[in-house]
Amino acid sequence: MEKTINTEPVYAIGIAAKKVGVSVHLLRVYEREGLIITARTESGRRLYSDLEIEKARCIRKMINEKGLNFAGIRRLLALLPCWRLRDCDNNEKDGCSAVKVSDKPCWFTEEKCAHPLPSCRDCPVYQRSVDCDQMKTIILNT
Ligand code: SF4
Repeated sequence: MEKTINTEPVYAIGIAAKKVGVSVHLLRVYEREGLIITARTESGRRLYSDLEIEKARCIRKMINEKGLNFAGIRRLLALLPCWRLRDCDNNEKDGCSAVKVSDKPCWFTEEKCAHPLPSCRDCPVYQRSVDCDQMKTIILNT
Protein backbone atom coordinates (compact mmCIF):
# COMPACT_ATOMS: atom_id res chain seq x y z
CA MET A 1 0.00 0.00 0.00
CA GLU A 2 1.23 3.48 -0.87
CA LYS A 3 2.49 5.55 2.05
CA THR A 4 1.16 9.05 2.62
CA ILE A 5 3.97 11.26 3.83
CA ASN A 6 3.85 14.87 4.91
CA THR A 7 5.61 17.08 2.36
CA GLU A 8 5.48 20.29 4.36
CA PRO A 9 9.05 21.52 4.85
CA VAL A 10 9.43 22.12 8.58
CA TYR A 11 12.75 20.67 9.78
CA ALA A 12 16.04 22.54 9.89
CA ILE A 13 19.03 20.57 8.59
CA GLY A 14 20.36 19.64 12.06
CA ILE A 15 17.05 18.10 13.08
CA ALA A 16 16.64 16.35 9.73
CA ALA A 17 20.15 14.87 9.95
CA LYS A 18 19.43 13.55 13.44
CA LYS A 19 16.17 11.96 12.28
CA VAL A 20 17.91 10.23 9.38
CA GLY A 21 20.97 9.27 11.43
CA VAL A 22 23.53 10.90 9.15
CA SER A 23 25.73 13.98 9.41
CA VAL A 24 24.59 17.42 8.26
CA HIS A 25 27.37 17.28 5.67
CA LEU A 26 26.09 14.00 4.23
CA LEU A 27 22.56 15.34 4.01
CA ARG A 28 23.87 18.28 1.94
CA VAL A 29 25.74 15.81 -0.27
CA TYR A 30 22.51 13.88 -0.97
CA GLU A 31 21.02 17.12 -2.27
CA ARG A 32 24.11 18.06 -4.29
CA GLU A 33 24.01 14.59 -5.89
CA GLY A 34 20.41 15.17 -7.02
CA LEU A 35 18.80 12.61 -4.74
CA ILE A 36 16.67 14.92 -2.64
CA ILE A 37 15.30 18.44 -3.13
CA THR A 38 15.00 20.80 -0.20
CA ALA A 39 12.77 23.81 0.26
CA ARG A 40 14.41 27.12 1.16
CA THR A 41 13.34 29.87 3.49
CA GLU A 42 13.48 33.47 2.25
CA SER A 43 16.92 33.75 3.81
CA GLY A 44 18.09 30.63 1.96
CA ARG A 45 18.03 28.18 4.86
CA ARG A 46 17.26 24.59 3.86
CA LEU A 47 14.08 23.01 5.18
CA TYR A 48 13.19 19.33 5.08
CA SER A 49 9.86 17.56 5.27
CA ASP A 50 9.06 14.01 6.39
CA LEU A 51 9.29 13.10 2.70
CA GLU A 52 12.98 14.10 2.48
CA ILE A 53 13.65 12.31 5.78
CA GLU A 54 12.16 9.10 4.36
CA LYS A 55 14.02 9.56 1.08
CA ALA A 56 17.32 10.08 2.88
CA ARG A 57 16.72 6.90 4.93
CA CYS A 58 16.03 5.03 1.70
CA ILE A 59 19.25 6.39 0.13
CA ARG A 60 21.23 5.35 3.19
CA LYS A 61 19.72 1.87 2.99
CA MET A 62 20.53 1.53 -0.71
CA ILE A 63 24.14 2.50 -0.02
CA ASN A 64 24.64 0.44 3.15
CA GLU A 65 22.59 -2.64 2.31
CA LYS A 66 22.62 -2.83 -1.49
CA GLY A 67 26.09 -1.41 -2.07
CA LEU A 68 24.87 1.24 -4.52
CA ASN A 69 26.75 4.49 -5.04
CA PHE A 70 25.21 7.87 -5.91
CA ALA A 71 25.46 7.29 -9.65
CA GLY A 72 23.74 3.91 -9.26
CA ILE A 73 20.90 5.44 -7.27
CA ARG A 74 20.51 8.20 -9.87
CA ARG A 75 20.25 5.54 -12.61
CA LEU A 76 17.60 3.71 -10.62
CA LEU A 77 15.61 6.91 -10.13
CA ALA A 78 15.91 7.62 -13.85
CA LEU A 79 13.93 4.43 -14.48
CA LEU A 80 10.83 5.86 -12.83
CA PRO A 81 8.11 6.07 -15.49
CA CYS A 82 7.53 9.82 -15.11
CA TRP A 83 5.22 9.94 -18.17
CA ARG A 84 2.85 7.49 -16.49
CA LEU A 85 3.01 9.17 -13.11
CA ARG A 86 2.20 12.50 -14.80
CA ASP A 87 -0.28 11.13 -17.38
CA CYS A 88 1.71 12.46 -20.32
CA ASP A 89 0.29 11.50 -23.71
CA ASN A 90 2.48 9.98 -26.42
CA ASN A 91 3.18 13.35 -28.04
CA GLU A 92 4.39 14.80 -24.76
CA LYS A 93 6.48 11.73 -23.99
CA ASP A 94 8.05 11.64 -27.46
CA GLY A 95 8.82 15.36 -27.32
CA CYS A 96 10.21 15.35 -23.78
CA SER A 97 13.98 15.76 -23.52
CA ALA A 98 14.08 14.94 -19.81
CA VAL A 99 12.61 11.47 -20.24
CA LYS A 100 15.44 10.50 -22.62
CA VAL A 101 18.11 10.95 -19.96
CA SER A 102 18.95 7.55 -18.50
CA ASP A 103 21.63 8.34 -15.95
CA LYS A 104 19.81 10.81 -13.72
CA PRO A 105 16.27 11.50 -12.56
CA CYS A 106 14.25 14.02 -14.55
CA TRP A 107 14.39 16.63 -11.78
CA PHE A 108 18.21 16.62 -11.85
CA THR A 109 18.79 16.96 -15.57
CA GLU A 110 19.31 20.17 -17.53
CA GLU A 111 16.96 18.81 -20.18
CA LYS A 112 13.49 20.29 -20.43
CA CYS A 113 10.55 18.46 -18.88
CA ALA A 114 7.47 18.43 -21.15
CA HIS A 115 5.20 18.83 -18.14
CA PRO A 116 7.08 21.09 -15.74
CA LEU A 117 5.77 22.18 -12.36
CA PRO A 118 6.97 25.28 -10.49
CA SER A 119 8.83 22.95 -8.13
CA CYS A 120 9.77 19.32 -8.71
CA ARG A 121 9.30 18.87 -4.95
CA ASP A 122 5.54 18.99 -5.64
CA CYS A 123 5.66 16.46 -8.45
CA PRO A 124 4.41 12.87 -8.00
CA VAL A 125 7.53 11.64 -9.79
CA TYR A 126 9.78 13.04 -7.08
CA GLN A 127 7.33 12.20 -4.31
CA ARG A 128 6.69 8.59 -5.39
CA SER A 129 10.39 7.75 -5.38
CA VAL A 130 10.43 7.69 -1.60
CA ASP A 131 9.87 4.05 -0.87
CA CYS A 132 12.90 1.80 -1.28
CA ASP A 133 10.91 -1.39 -0.90
CA GLN A 134 8.32 -0.33 -3.46
CA MET A 135 10.69 1.22 -6.01
CA LYS A 136 10.81 -1.95 -8.13
CA THR A 137 7.02 -2.26 -8.10
CA ILE A 138 6.58 1.37 -9.13
CA ILE A 139 9.08 1.02 -11.97
CA LEU A 140 7.55 -2.20 -13.28
CA ASN A 141 3.86 -1.70 -12.62
CA THR A 142 2.96 1.97 -12.67
S1 SF4 B 1 8.10 18.41 -12.92
FE1 SF4 B 1 10.18 17.82 -12.30
S2 SF4 B 1 9.99 15.85 -11.20
FE2 SF4 B 1 8.07 16.23 -12.35
S3 SF4 B 1 8.30 15.12 -14.29
FE3 SF4 B 1 9.00 17.25 -14.63
S4 SF4 B 1 11.20 17.28 -14.23
FE4 SF4 B 1 10.34 15.39 -13.36
